[in-house]
Amino acid sequence: MAKTVFVSGGSRGIGACAVREFSKLGYNVAFTYYKSKECAMTLKNDTGAMAIFCDIADSKQVKAAIDTAYNKFGSIDILINNAGIDEFSLFTDITDEMWQRMINTNLSGAFYACRSALPYMLSKKQGSIINISSMWGQVGASCEVHYSVSKAGLIGLTKSLAKEVGPSNIRVNCICPGVIDTDMNSCLSEDDINQLKSDTPLGKIGTVKEVFDSILFLADDCSSFITGQILGVNGGYII
Ligand code: NDP
Repeated sequence: MAKTVFVSGGSRGIGACAVREFSKLGYNVAFTYYKSKECAMTLKNDTGAMAIFCDIADSKQVKAAIDTAYNKFGSIDILINNAGIDEFSLFTDITDEMWQRMINTNLSGAFYACRSALPYMLSKKQGSIINISSMWGQVGASCEVHYSVSKAGLIGLTKSLAKEVGPSNIRVNCICPGVIDTDMNSCLSEDDINQLKSDTPLGKIGTVKEVFDSILFLADDCSSFITGQILGVNGGYII
């Protein structure tokens, strides 16, 4: 029976690549979208994946989205906590609202999705959870403190949850991408991109497919003895 993958934030970027690639490989795929309905509908039509509207920062909507996918496919085997936002701001300019939106979206969203999906994984004693953090969660980024904190939180979530659910044969791992060519970096100038490339040992920025290849590795049984790990996909920017 085909495994079911649930991808949060599947409408664009890394998530959309995961939806396309997992669909091509024959997995059942459910993904969430929030603001990009048009992209989500195109992706749904192209792949046959299930598109679900969901604000990942809202626990009730997240539970409903996971339940909807489970009711259609009969299992949640792989959960990819990918939905996220980024924002540049001086630390002293971060408002309560900016802080809460960042933490609620990037960190609480993953918590809600894990909490909603785990009962289905626990009942099968099988599952793989992959949290998409960031290299800035590993080393911290100036003018992105709230983003870096949310992503560091995902690393903590990964390690602690891996210990708790490992005995039930559920693996929890984390990917920390470096600079990847998506809308998230569309605000960077050509000079910024060139600087980032020259600061990266592999001399380039990453593609969504390169992140997906790591997602697939951690989702698949070929990584069956790997849990609680933090995998950098950053061209060597952080070593
Ligand atoms: P994009 O901006 O291209 O896509 C972000 C995705 O997250 C969209 O599908 C968006 O959905 C979804 N999303 C945002 N807010 C919400 C919300 N409140 N509820 C539900 N979905 C939401 O980003 P990337 O593909 O680049 O990033 C994907 C993940 O990878 C993020 O967690 C990001 O932090 C991380 N990452 C990215 C890096 C990069 O260089 N690109 C580097 C390191 C980490 P919609 O448009 O429908 O609202």
